[in-house]
Amino acid sequence: MALYAATVVKLIEEFEKLPGIGHKSAQRIAFHLLEQPEEKVKAFAEAMVKARAGLKYCEVCCNMSDKDVCDICGNNARDRSIICVVEDPRDVAAMERAREFRGLYHVLHGAISPMSGTGPDDIKLKELVKRMDGEVSEVIVATNPTVEGETTAMYISKLLKPLGVKVTRIAHGIPVGGDLEYADEITLAKALQGRREI
Ligand code: ZN
Repeated sequence: MALYAATVVKLIEEFEKLPGIGHKSAQRIAFHLLEQPEEKVKAFAEAMVKARAGLKYCEVCCNMSDKDVCDICGNNARDRSIICVVEDPRDVAAMERAREFRGLYHVLHGAISPMSGTGPDDIKLKELVKRMDGEVSEVIVATNPTVEGETTAMYISKLLKPLGVKVTRIAHGIPVGGDLEYADEITLAKALQGRREI
């Protein structure tokens, strides 16, 4: 005899697929939802579907956006001669919270990782090279201080230097093995100030 109805089992299984959610948490979330009024559950489901359906990527920087060109790339007050390269859209948010950087961004959506089979063509590197139009004088590589992040930084340096662009790497005020997203504002600001050419 099944413990729960098939629809409930399916719901628990779906939650279990989410990052950081184990079987027990999945059960707790599923039952919490089932106890809510139907309208509330509908609103929750609609929020997910709407966010996904409206999701676009900025044509310039590849960051997540709900427009063709994101608010940062569209802002004329930003310094167009400096591009800060990050792995993940969440890193842009972390950098913006630090309020130290006034240039533009480029989101790679990953890092080069031979271990997991992610090569240079699997991240937004071609898009980055395309942006080197003569107006850009410096590219700050702010990938995570991990093996993958460092490999990616070196690759970018080799890729862009022949184009006459200064390539710098943020200083490691950020703990090695750490995640940019979780660094506090001061650490990020210091890391940016202490960047060096690579
Ligand atoms: Zn953009």
